Amino acid sequence: MTITAKAWFLVEPKAPLVERELPIPVPGPGEAVVEVWGNGVCHTDLGFADGGVRPNHPLPLVLGHEAVGRVVEAGDAFVHLVGKTVVVPAVLPCGECALCKMGRGNACPKQKMPGNDIHGAFATHIVVPARPLQVLPTTGDVDVRMYSVVADAVSTAWQATRRAGVSEGDLCYVVGAGGVGGFTIQACAALGAKVIALDVADERLSLMAKHGAAATINTRGKDVKAVREEASKLAKGFGIDTWRTRVFECAGLPATQEIAFSLIGRCSTMVQVGFTPERVTVRLSNLMAFDATVHGTWGCPPEQYPEVLKLIAEGKIALAPFCEVRPMREVNAVLDAMRAHALTRRVTLDPRL
Ligand SMILES: [Zn+2]
Ligand SMILES: [Zn+2]
Repeated sequence: MTITAKAWFLVEPKAPLVERELPIPVPGPGEAVVEVWGNGVCHTDLGFADGGVRPNHPLPLVLGHEAVGRVVEAGDAFVHLVGKTVVVPAVLPCGECALCKMGRGNACPKQKMPGNDIHGAFATHIVVPARPLQVLPTTGDVDVRMYSVVADAVSTAWQATRRAGVSEGDLCYVVGAGGVGGFTIQACAALGAKVIALDVADERLSLMAKHGAAATINTRGKDVKAVREEASKLAKGFGIDTWRTRVFECAGLPATQEIAFSLIGRCSTMVQVGFTPERVTVRLSNLMAFDATVHGTWGCPPEQYPEVLKLIAEGKIALAPFCEVRPMREVNAVLDAMRAHALTRRVTLDPRL
């Protein structure tokens, strides 16, 4: 069967995406063709679209790396996937290199990221390596298209909690409560940690207070010192020591990175989740003085997805209050709304609408 996909290409930075036809090749032995039912729009897409970050694949490139859909064709070893509903992880590791074998496939040097290394899922169809695809169980009451956010926002949040070693009774500061930050808050709470959410938007904070945050701090207009004092007062109230503190920077701004770094105390752990090309000035020697740890984190290894899907099935991570579905042909309007910080939920684009 020859498929001609409809796809939205980034042709040049700072210009709207362009709808074009894309002939879908017959999948190779290790590949699958997925009919896209939903694809989450991420800030990374905006970074590519606006030219702040250059994708690895030359332009024109179809963006989009948070796909859910149905496998319609697959190479010989993966024909059992045909007809299955799958999440396409944002990071598709090779599965064979040393990092993949040690459980760090999310950092695989041969990884493929849709919408960055290969054509992405702002399209009716996508061709991807088949091995990392995650077959979805029945999704209950949750709209299956909302599972697109599992491909990046939720799984990245989960992997960040693993990097931080979050366990029951820890104190987690999550700086930036939207998108991946909101799911980080839910994941930390699911692991039994007390979570303090920090953000500049009251509506985001009050939503997170219903979904895992034990306390919130609105940081708008406050300097780093004032935020740190407010945070440590809350921590003392919870009676949790700094060595049980896990800090997550999820907003990806110099100001929020500065706040996150300031929350590190004796033997604390911080994980950098957000991205900014900007630099930030911090006193790195605080890490020395506090015997503290800072980790980076990138995506999530495919073998962790069943754990994430389980937390969603158990209702410990909610998707519906954080997602909305829109037609994919509205992608440029959605990117504009994202530029204007006018989105309150993560948008999933459905090319069939
Ligand atoms: Zn993303
Ligand atoms: Zn690998």
